Amino acid sequence: MIFLDAAATTPVRREVLDAMWPYLTGGFGNPSSHHTLGEEAAAALAGARSAVATVLGCRPGEAVFTSGGTEADNLAVKGIALARQAANPLLNRVVISAVEHPAVEESARYLERFHGFAVDVVPVDPSGLVSPDALAAVLGPETALVSIMYANNEIGTVQPIAALAALARSQGIPFHTDAVQAAGWLPLDARALGVDAMSISGHKLGAPKGCGVLYVRSRIRLEPVIHGGGQERGRRSGTENVAGAVGLATALTLARAGQEEQRDRVAALRDRFIVAVLDGVPDAVLTGHPTERLPSVASFCFPGTSGESVLLELERRGVVCSSGSACAAGSDAPSPVLTALGVPAELAQTAVRFSFDAAVTQADLEAAAAAVQAAVAGVRNLGAGYSR
Ligand code: PLP
Repeated sequence: MIFLDAAATTPVRREVLDAMWPYLTGGFGNPSSHHTLGEEAAAALAGARSAVATVLGCRPGEAVFTSGGTEADNLAVKGIALARQAANPLLNRVVISAVEHPAVEESARYLERFHGFAVDVVPVDPSGLVSPDALAAVLGPETALVSIMYANNEIGTVQPIAALAALARSQGIPFHTDAVQAAGWLPLDARALGVDAMSISGHKLGAPKGCGVLYVRSRIRLEPVIHGGGQERGRRSGTENVAGAVGLATALTLARAGQEEQRDRVAALRDRFIVAVLDGVPDAVLTGHPTERLPSVASFCFPGTSGESVLLELERRGVVCSSGSACAAGSDAPSPVLTALGVPAELAQTAVRFSFDAAVTQADLEAAAAAVQAAVAGVRNLGAGYSR
């Protein structure tokens, strides 16, 4: 099997599992317990927090461990907007882009439904980019928060985050970015990016599912979303997932080592794969930005097919990928991301996303490109058969 669905999830790396193992077994203490076992767990958690802080270029106290990317996004969007509204009731608008993950979009819609916020959606251009001018057009004195993703999960387009964050912050508006897909590939130094909050998820970079982190700049107020015993300095209650935090810290640290070299290598393979797919299926349409895209994502529409049928044909040929985001899989509606790019609904139904991890090889991608040509031809032949 050639697994080209790393944007959905990745296997746990051996080094990550080894680092976690002691805290799943003998060192199973609760970090809040005042005995040796608890203190050992608390020390492991503190070590993980410092390691995460090193990668994110922040202070350890600015890293809040969560149950993953979805929770980090919820905490950022709801937590910052609600805290700002509580301080000043006139701050009642939230700005998001038109291509956000549902974890951000639905959090903003929740604020709209239950807390009197209005949601301003910044449009994207046909390649999925948000321009600083488009963002400037929606910012106003009532804007409580801006949330724009670093890199898109369906098309891989990478936003000019530093420029967008600088614009928001020049107006005193906190800026959150969902960096779930960027992590492992792009620089994550929060200070250099100029962001106030940033979400990361473990399972996209070789840590297990169910662990993540939200960076929150120290001066930013955050209303908790999960209430309870006051762990994570009151910002996220619940007994900490010590092993998960250790795994996430290990995965982030490993991903940072040699990142540039991996990025260039995988980007070159991706470019060759894109050329090979377009050679094999000349009317295929590459979606997303031609250059400002994750090294790890190649996404296409294959006119005259259905994305789901192409997936089935590919799987029969040993290639596993997805028709868009894993979260939207199984839904018949065209992808809201592709719709936001202006892709017609009929073409959007033909979308297929190939996403790689750092272990991908040229041989894998050559075989995959040949399988794509055969799979698309197979689906088109079937379609012609049906219509006769
Ligand atoms: N944000 C983006 C851009 C994602 O791609 C994902 C996962 O698909 C998430 C958030 C949610 O992360 P998690 O699966 O850890 O909840």
